[in-house]
Amino acid sequence: MQPVISIQGLNKTYASGHSALKTIDLDIRKGEIFALLGPNGAGKTTLISIICGIVNPGEGRVQVAGNDIVRDYRAARSKIGLVPQELFNEGFESVWATVKFSRGLFGKPANAGYLEQLLKDLSLWEKRDARIFELSGGMKRRVMIAKALSHEPEILFLDEPTAGVDVELRRNMWEMVRKLRERGVTIILTTHYIEEAEEMADRIGVIRKGEIILVEDKATLMRKLGKKQLTVHLQHPLHALPDALVRDDLSLRDDGYTLVYTFDGQRDETGVAELLQELAQQGIAFKDLQSSESSLEDIFVSLVSERSE
Ligand code: ATP
Repeated sequence: MQPVISIQGLNKTYASGHSALKTIDLDIRKGEIFALLGPNGAGKTTLISIICGIVNPGEGRVQVAGNDIVRDYRAARSKIGLVPQELFNEGFESVWATVKFSRGLFGKPANAGYLEQLLKDLSLWEKRDARIFELSGGMKRRVMIAKALSHEPEILFLDEPTAGVDVELRRNMWEMVRKLRERGVTIILTTHYIEEAEEMADRIGVIRKGEIILVEDKATLMRKLGKKQLTVHLQHPLHALPDALVRDDLSLRDDGYTLVYTFDGQRDETGVAELLQELAQQGIAFKDLQSSESSLEDIFVSLVSERSE
């Protein structure tokens, strides 16, 4: 299938001489939720801003729904809704006027029914006549989303959508993003809450120092790079592991009270049964066992730090 966004050999060097993007090649599939993850300053906002026509591209080519972002700027931009990181709204206008105006900017004919449904979906309908400065921070953020969706874009960019948002609102926003995807909207989000990407994304891209270092289906990534750990709480502390148990995947922690075994959860032979037998043979008694899987956050942290020299 044709990608909805195709980026080929994209470079960006700011006037300061800083090279923010280095030969980015990336395709975004139609209808997916793609999470772009990376540490501060990695180039996420630069990449989004180029695709949305806010920052000039350097070398390379970007197409949005088949439209070149430079040559066919208007057509490309009309396919996109952008919710930027920073909140900025026309404070004295009402919610309704703001959203209606945003739609008009894209030359779309008025459609009160669509805008009404949009405000209802975002729980803003009751507030349609309120002026924006009268709203709470969370409501203002939803107004930004309503504006981004006002012209019925096929692609929605969410740059840190839930920064500074409370837990309940974050969950509501996740729900809303899923609904949009069900309607066929492609969603690209950047986030520092890795939990958010773990919860929602179909695919994950990791960017570091202007380079895409990994693009993978979330499930595959978690299967390939995820590790399992078995934590054994011992009845009596050990000063050191007995020789028979000295190996790389076993460590003693917590003043000798805890034994941690790290293994590949995908293998049929996890080694857990053998370990427990070995403990019994060595006369090491335990009072509790816990197993856990690495989160996307663990994987992300190890990916980003592994490659830092
Ligand atoms: P964050 O997670 O902190 O939002 P980011 O991944 O979005 O970071 P960018 O905002 O794209 O990162 O910035 C990438 C790099 O480019 C940074 O080193 C930043 O200082 C630099 N940069 C961004 N905008 C400009 C600009 N207008 N002029 C010069 N350098 C810039």
